[in-house]
Amino acid sequence: MVKITPEARRVLDICAMGDIAMSCGKCGHVDNLMAFGRSPLGMDLPRGTYQCPACRRAIERRSKGCQIIRLANGEPFGVPERIEIHSVPSYL
Ligand SMILES: [Zn+2]
Repeated sequence: MVKITPEARRVLDICAMGDIAMSCGKCGHVDNLMAFGRSPLGMDLPRGTYQCPACRRAIERRSKGCQIIRLANGEPFGVPERIEIHSVPSYL
């Protein structure tokens, strides 16, 4: 039998709500993506920037290059060739 920890239960609940769960690489805090997209004072962070609501570690996701792929219907669609994660100063 699989034992579900309270933290795992929380992640499952978040997924059931249709949100995307995110975990902090520094402290392990798990929350939905929306919580990581806001500063402690409630300000929306710049696009591609995420901050842990528990330990305030902030990261920025940077896309490098662009590769064009064709969707099933033949339409071109741009995808990044590489994604880099950078540590940035935390927001208030
Ligand atoms: Zn954290």
